Amino acid sequence: MASSAVPFAVDRSVSALVVKIGHYSLHHGGVGAIRSLGRLGVPMYAVTEDRWTPAALSRYPARAVVWPTTGSERPERLVEGLLRIGRAIGRPAVLLDFCHAMGGPRYESDWGLIPVETFSAYGLWFQERLVPELERVRVVSVDRRGGRFELKLDSGEQFTARAVVVASGLSGLAHLPHELAAAVPDGPAPGGPVSHSSHHRDLGRFQGREVVVVGAGQSALESAVLLAEAGAAAVRVVARGPRAVAFGSPPDHQPRLRPESPFGRAWSLYALSYHAVGFRRLPAPAREYLVRRVLGPKGAWWLRDRFAGRVRVTQGRRISRVTVRADGRPVVGLHGGGRVGELAADHVMAATGYRMSVAALDFLGPGLHSELVTGAGGPWLDAGYGSSVPGPYFTGLPAAASFGPVMRFVCGTEYASPRLAKAVATTHG
Ligand SMILES: Cc1cc2nc3c(=O)[nH]c(=O)nc-3n(C[C@H](O)[C@H](O)[C@H](O)COP(=O)(O)OP(=O)(O)OC[C@H]3O[C@@H](n4cnc5c(N)ncnc54)[C@H](O)[C@@H]3O)c2cc1C
Repeated sequence: MASSAVPFAVDRSVSALVVKIGHYSLHHGGVGAIRSLGRLGVPMYAVTEDRWTPAALSRYPARAVVWPTTGSERPERLVEGLLRIGRAIGRPAVLLDFCHAMGGPRYESDWGLIPVETFSAYGLWFQERLVPELERVRVVSVDRRGGRFELKLDSGEQFTARAVVVASGLSGLAHLPHELAAAVPDGPAPGGPVSHSSHHRDLGRFQGREVVVVGAGQSALESAVLLAEAGAAAVRVVARGPRAVAFGSPPDHQPRLRPESPFGRAWSLYALSYHAVGFRRLPAPAREYLVRRVLGPKGAWWLRDRFAGRVRVTQGRRISRVTVRADGRPVVGLHGGGRVGELAADHVMAATGYRMSVAALDFLGPGLHSELVTGAGGPWLDAGYGSSVPGPYFTGLPAAASFGPVMRFVCGTEYASPRLAKAVATTHG
């Protein structure tokens, strides 16, 4: 891609890894290359001898991998090290393989926006290659009998297992605040007056309609934009906080002198991402608070331009109740800031997220429910993700109460899976 600021073409689709081998405390060539290429928008990675070198502290590398070397290592050791670093920085490498296999564009840096269709196709591609034996059945019950677990599937099949890993994710955990739930005694539905954002695949049904979206996270802000883009007559986001509607910083506006994490540069996010086991030592109320508040609602940086001018915003007002008029139109009662008011619409979409509750894991038998030690909104887990009852293991959102907010995100898998797999193999292998 040509840049108007430099007299040569810059290919920003290819990232660069600056490797420094050997101990030269005054060596600044590497950081110069990192800064020059980084300023031109080339996605940068760096190998540095510790976390405090200018290269590691530079704002440009998407990731600085610490690898102290002397320069006198055997070539095989250097090759091994480079392969290890390739794997460490190479989470997108699988996606790169996918892009290569499909012949599509390459996604190598935080600037690359991946369309949902690509992400979904990547998920299926990944599954077909790495988990080809996947069975599409629902587990309807898990009961403990003696030292084993009896599982029933919706296919009618039954079998026993020594251990069960619960990775049921967000299923059944969609949260609808009671002010909205009270308006729809039969439950929220995409075609009714009130729905949850998780109900929708295609927002085309709202063409020409007025929609109120409740919430201020990515579900709310992106749904609002997609509604406007799908031709909704009017879209309004309603949020409780006075400055709730906000967007994250683009990758080149991250603070300096703070360590990198999958969520951006911050000491707290670094600790939560790479030392999640320490979260278990906090008292339950602190864990519950942090799981809800850390990495709280915000829009992605790339959504801001699509949102501005298209979506109206009411913030700093709480919903007192929602009523449904005789013609089926919902009316949202609001209060806050010393004012009360009402908003009428054709539809209210609650983009109000997901709440973990052990009770919602309805496939766990009553015996297991009563025996599991819980706290902070989830099962209490040991360092290997095992519950207080020997045999069940929990990962993903159900593990957030013990391992913190990183478990709410895909990248939490990188922390959880090796520990969980090792614990299961050691105890039940
Ligand atoms: C709108 C939105 C945006 C998000 N954006 C991001 C993001 O940008 N980055 C990020 O890292 N994370 C994001 N997340 C979070 C991310 O989706 C989750 O962290 C991730 O999907 C969790 O993976 P999981 O495998 O634990 O659960 P899930 O992806 O929910 O998968 C759980 C699986 O278990 C199956 N299942 C459930 N119950 C049963 C049963 N009884 N029997 C058989 N199978 C069952 C389900 O069908 C499903 O296939 C977002 C979430 C939402 C809702």
